Amino acid sequence: MINRLLDRLLGRGPRLAKPRQAKILRGADLGLKRELISPNAIKVCETLQRAGFKAYLVGGAVRDLLLGITPKDFDVATNATPEDVKAEFRRAMIIGRRFRLVHVMFGREVIETSTFRALNPEAKTDEHGRVLADNLFGSQSEDAARRDFTVNALYYDPSSDEVLDYHGGVSDLKKRLIRMIGDPATRYREDPVRMLRSVRFAAKLGFTIEEQTRAPIREMAELIHNVPVARLFDEMLKLLQSGQAMACLRQLRDAGLHDGLLPLLDVILEQPQGARFVEIALARTDERVREGKSISPGFLFATLLWQQVRTRWEAGIARGDYPIPALMAAIDLALDEQSEQLAIQKRFIADMREIWSLQPRFERRTGSQPYRLLEHIRYRAGFDFLMLRTDAGEIEPELVAWWDRFAGGSPNERDTMIADLARAPGSSSTASGRPRRRRRRSSGGQGATDGGSEGAGES
Ligand code: ATP
Ligand code: MG
Repeated sequence: MINRLLDRLLGRGPRLAKPRQAKILRGADLGLKRELISPNAIKVCETLQRAGFKAYLVGGAVRDLLLGITPKDFDVATNATPEDVKAEFRRAMIIGRRFRLVHVMFGREVIETSTFRALNPEAKTDEHGRVLADNLFGSQSEDAARRDFTVNALYYDPSSDEVLDYHGGVSDLKKRLIRMIGDPATRYREDPVRMLRSVRFAAKLGFTIEEQTRAPIREMAELIHNVPVARLFDEMLKLLQSGQAMACLRQLRDAGLHDGLLPLLDVILEQPQGARFVEIALARTDERVREGKSISPGFLFATLLWQQVRTRWEAGIARGDYPIPALMAAIDLALDEQSEQLAIQKRFIADMREIWSLQPRFERRTGSQPYRLLEHIRYRAGFDFLMLRTDAGEIEPELVAWWDRFAGGSPNERDTMIADLARAPGSSSTASGRPRRRRRRSSGGQGATDGGSEGAGES
């Protein structure tokens, strides 16, 4: 009571969710899957504990372990300062400005280790209330209160098998609810990315967003515009790599979050002719994620923006430009349009350009050209992209089948394939025969598509 009065007098408002006592439960009783814990994460906890500090697994890893899902990475929370942590490990690096934390490295695995943080009433905010810097260390219960959702605020001590639950996360896990800790509107104002996170977790885990957590999102959606684009890009990437990409995008739309959020999302959700291509691409991405395979962000964004490139490419050809320069101009245009609002990192942009630029080269199958393409360092990505286009009905399946045989063929077989193609009646050695110049068809179906890609092979 006195605390609350003090808060009000000091103008701290509801941002200071009251620190609480943790309920202590046993992992074994909750069915926590210990065998899914990375030995390196356990090592970090044990090393810090031996040095006299508290150390727990925290966040998404504990949530996933309780759900029987293999966590994709492990975070550790401790009362040791970043300097204390660094001193305990041979390969450890202090990183971050907004939040300083330590990356403890074991080969390719990184265990992100952060010091308990306090809710800082003096934290610097922008004019909308977004917290800009917040590095004040605090107690474990304060650390719990500044996390986003109840299911993300569970701590697990692998040495004692204890789960510390400050905000009813275990009960919400059972009810399959994403519930904000504290006052949802305030927490969204502090960090609008939390709106995207609620949608991502709900889609990824098949959970429901609890009513009061969902309610403010629609009218607060526009606060997303104040978030730096680089951070939005990171979140977008996480969303797309969640294993439930399409479900995430649909829920973003339902929550009123997609509109104007990223030009990319408008493209994906609002262009019917692109929907099939993107749906196939995202379904494949989800499949790969669920099989534990890696996803190349460059490839992913190349698929998401392809319709933008394709329509501009076709328009260029229809204006009478040569296919290859028309494609290059289309790529520049599409990337320019995105760059204002979506900070796709440079190295991904380079990948995207390459994957797109390879496409017309699959249609040129004379002389040494197919050999050169096969040796290209991005051949595989280009070919996978070609397969997507084929599955979307954009080009004839014969082309993919040819390349599949060519790639697996002996030198003799390859020579024969090229020779056969040159002799085929009515075929110049383009992939799928002469281009069918039906670009102006406005149905938006296959006909319109055929023209662009096949015409490109003719240059
Ligand atoms: P994922 O499975 O996607 O990694 P995660 O819950 O581990 O999910 P991270 O982004 O890795 O998500 O963050 C780790 C933890 O840090 C979260 O579980 C949450 O407790 C806290 N956290 C992350 N981002 C925020 C945020 N914007 N606001 C409050 N807490 C956050
Ligand atoms: Mg995580």
